[in-house]
Amino acid sequence: MTGSTSSAPDRRSGAPRLTRADLDALPNYVPGRSPADLARELGLPEAIKLASNEVPYGLLPGVAEAVTEAVTEAHRYPDMGVLALRSALAERYGVDAERIATGCGSVALAEHLVRATCLPGDEVVYSWRSFEAYPIIAATSGATSVRVPNDAGHGHDLAAMAAAVTDRTRLIFVCNPNNPTGTSLRRAELDRFLGTVPDDVLVVLDEAYREFVTDPEVPDGLVTYGDRPNVVVLRTLSKAWGLAGLRIGFLVGQPEVAATVRKVVTPFSASLAAQAGALAALAEADEMRRRCALVVAERDRMIEALRKRLPAGPAGAGGAGSGGVPESQANFVWLPLGDASVPFAQACEARGIIVRPFAGEGVRVTIGTPAENDAFLAAADSVL
Ligand code: PMP
Repeated sequence: MTGSTSSAPDRRSGAPRLTRADLDALPNYVPGRSPADLARELGLPEAIKLASNEVPYGLLPGVAEAVTEAVTEAHRYPDMGVLALRSALAERYGVDAERIATGCGSVALAEHLVRATCLPGDEVVYSWRSFEAYPIIAATSGATSVRVPNDAGHGHDLAAMAAAVTDRTRLIFVCNPNNPTGTSLRRAELDRFLGTVPDDVLVVLDEAYREFVTDPEVPDGLVTYGDRPNVVVLRTLSKAWGLAGLRIGFLVGQPEVAATVRKVVTPFSASLAAQAGALAALAEADEMRRRCALVVAERDRMIEALRKRLPAGPAGAGGAGSGGVPESQANFVWLPLGDASVPFAQACEARGIIVRPFAGEGVRVTIGTPAENDAFLAAADSVL
């Protein structure tokens, strides 16, 4: 182990190749930097992490106790069928438990879905830029990525995505709201798009940020499309429910799709702690909603403040301000800083604030507490 984050692994010359050559060029998934490390490096009492779209208010009440209690039995395997959690989810979302599969985070389920649908050479269509795991998942599964560029407003270009479907397409990711740009798709356009997708292509509606959506025109996939045979809705407990470190997500699809995914899932990947923590969190839905409302109020304040600092430039001009800061229905905002993205993030980091740059494109800033957001705005003022 080198701990290196470069995408090309070191190879001793002359050593036999043991792993797939096509994976050498694959980018690594980039986790947010540890704030403790940064604080140590800068000699600060603490650093602020606004890089991984976590909610900043800690565990929901009762979660720590439930996990502590559960791990007293951790010498035993967890329930592989995840029955208690699946039935709690079924009850909460008004669907049959047979339609639910859980995974080690929704990212694992995204991977399982590709494995459950694609043979080598089959195509996975998604908008780009979107969730960075999609290309990694497609490549590791041997599928072919078909990336459809985002539209000028940083969102999915659904007409172009529909046009990109071929007879090799097996799966389409639709990320709503989209990570990292925060943009979202409304009911009418999604209806139209779903109407064009062939019946034998699975549409995965990735709704990791659903709980932060306040626009009534942005449909809840479970409510609006839950009964469409070729739609699967992906949700996570990592964001609004505050369980990123426990690793648990779920999907709702047709019973046959969910059953196939349950076969593909790595056995026991929903740990004892994750199952117990998720059950306890789901019992605190009111508190979850209260926290999301705080995040949403701060999101709206941040967008207003950042739009003043980054006014919309001429369309397509690139660089700072081009297109302005898009609306966000998620718990983060997107700053389309173009080539200034990496220097901006580095300058924030030098001030003890970790944000997430996408080189040449933009910077994603997670909504933190009011004090954290103020600290970020102050840093942005001195950098911009
Ligand atoms: N989908 C999207 C759009 C995401 O942004 C993320 C997390 N960054 C995930 C899925 C995966 O989340 P998790 O694996 O923690 O459930």
